[in-house]
This record gives sequence, C-alpha cells and structure tokens, in this order.
Amino acid sequence: MPAKGVEFVEHSEIMTYEEILRFLRVAAGTGIRKVKVTGGEPLVRKGVCGFIRKVRNIPGIESVTLTTNGALLEEHLPELEAAGITGINVSLDTLDPEKFHQITRCDDFGRVWSGIRAATQTKIPVKVNCIPMKGCNEEELAKIAALAKEYPITVRFIEMMPIGMGTGYARILQDEIKSLLEDRFGTMELVDEILGNGPAGYYKIADFKGRIGFISAVSHEFCKSCNRIRLTADGILKPCLNFESRVNLKKEMRSGMTDEELEQLLKNVIYHKPRCHAFGDETKKDIQEKRRMAGIGG
Ligand code: SF4
Repeated sequence: MPAKGVEFVEHSEIMTYEEILRFLRVAAGTGIRKVKVTGGEPLVRKGVCGFIRKVRNIPGIESVTLTTNGALLEEHLPELEAAGITGINVSLDTLDPEKFHQITRCDDFGRVWSGIRAATQTKIPVKVNCIPMKGCNEEELAKIAALAKEYPITVRFIEMMPIGMGTGYARILQDEIKSLLEDRFGTMELVDEILGNGPAGYYKIADFKGRIGFISAVSHEFCKSCNRIRLTADGILKPCLNFESRVNLKKEMRSGMTDEELEQLLKNVIYHKPRCHAFGDETKKDIQEKRRMAGIGG
C-alpha cells in the first residue's frame, strides 16, 4: 500500500453485483468456466458471500476462488463455505508482525494468521501467496515455505511484477528460492497434478503436508498459455496485466449494450490478448500499465 493510501472512487463508479453477474452469464456462454474474485480486497464488500453463491450457480461456471488479504477471512469462512467457494488464496509476505505493518500499513497480522489457520480446518483448498522482495522478506522465505510442512496448504512464491509499486522492489528469482529451499528441506520434486487454474509450477518435498509453487511471470514468461482476462472493480476489462489496453465495459453496459454485443466485445478482448509481456522494455513504456495492482485486481 502506498504511504498516502489509495484514492477512493465513487460508489456509482463500481460495478454492481447485478452487472458483474450479467457479464459472467455472458462469459460462461462463451466457455469461460473459472472465476476468481480478487480486489482491492473482496471481503470488505457488503454481500460478497451471497454474490459468490450466485456466481457458483451460473450454468457453466465450475469454480469460484477468492484472493484475499485474509484480515476478514475467519469471520467469513462459514458463509464462504456455504456459498460453495472452491479455493481461497491469502496474501502473506511475512510472518513478522512489524514487517507486516510496514508492507501493508495495517496491524492485522494476528487476524490474517488466525484466518489462514481457521481455513485449514475446513475442506476448502488454501494457498498462501508470498511475494519475495530483496531487502524485505528474503530472510524469511524458508520459514514461510515451512508453513506447507505443518499445514496442508500450498505456499506459492509469486515473482514481483514491475507494475505500480512493484517497480520499486528487486525480485528474487525462482531458481534462487528453489535452491535455498532444497538446501534447507531436501529435494523438491516437480508434480504434474493440477492445483490451480494458472501457470504455477508445483513441487513436493518429503514430509511436507502441502506443496510449494512458483509463479514467475517475468523470468519464466508464460504468456502464451495465459488464458485470463480481468474485470476491475470499476468495470474495466483488461486482456493483460502488463499493458494499458482496456475496454470500459461498465460504460458500454450502462449505455444499453445487448448480451450479443457484450459477447462480441468479450471475444474481441480475448482475441487481442498480447503474445507476451514487455516488462522492462523501455521502448514500450508508454503503453504499459500505470495503475497499481490493488486497482487492477492482479
Ligand atoms: S499475457 Fe499478460 S497477464 Fe497473461 S501472463 Fe503475460 S503478462 Fe501476465
């Protein structure tokens, strides 16, 4: 989070649940099967569990997962379970409450940790997402990985992308982390079981209850297999995290677009997904995303 906080947008600028559900019905009609609810922080939005239940009930939608900062997770767990959530990802970059405060600018470490532990007591698959940053949490990575030893969860190390505030941090590469973990815990064996919807590579380690995963979008570019599109809270449809290119879906929907036109617009966005990212390419600086991740729901 930036020190000055984030700019709030008017409620009227946020997509209503009805608008998102209409979009998802059309999307499901084109063959989209999996939905991830991200943010900002989805659990701060009133009625989110009821919304998730409705998404689960859309014909064709097979899974609905949630990415959360975990602060409100514990109190929402019963409702999330009842709504049929198929997976929960919690962002956690440190196990040190003070550092947690420095990174997130709030004092919710205890609540987040308690939420993660409570989630492991349910049948919902849990993933912990950690972004390794040089000079910030590099000393803790083995400790964070060890959560997958103690609990049946997947700990994923997600490479910092140079978007928004991410431009101010140095990445720690997957190979570096893997060799650090192998020194500490022994051989990591690549598994071919499907643990998610995305391009993460997963490993098992002897004696671990859970798995370790890596998502390395920059150093191990996987754009050719990227099948995601993003709808931001303020109604922008994005084919790719890296580029600024976007469609103002909310504006189109509010100006009377039919479902057929909506379907065509969605298909056009998908057909125009870029071949690959251009992180670090100065010649393409002008067309790269300038919004912060918290605003895109990356
Ligand atoms: S196409 Fe864009 S969103 Fe997909 S993996 Fe590449 S950079 Fe990320």
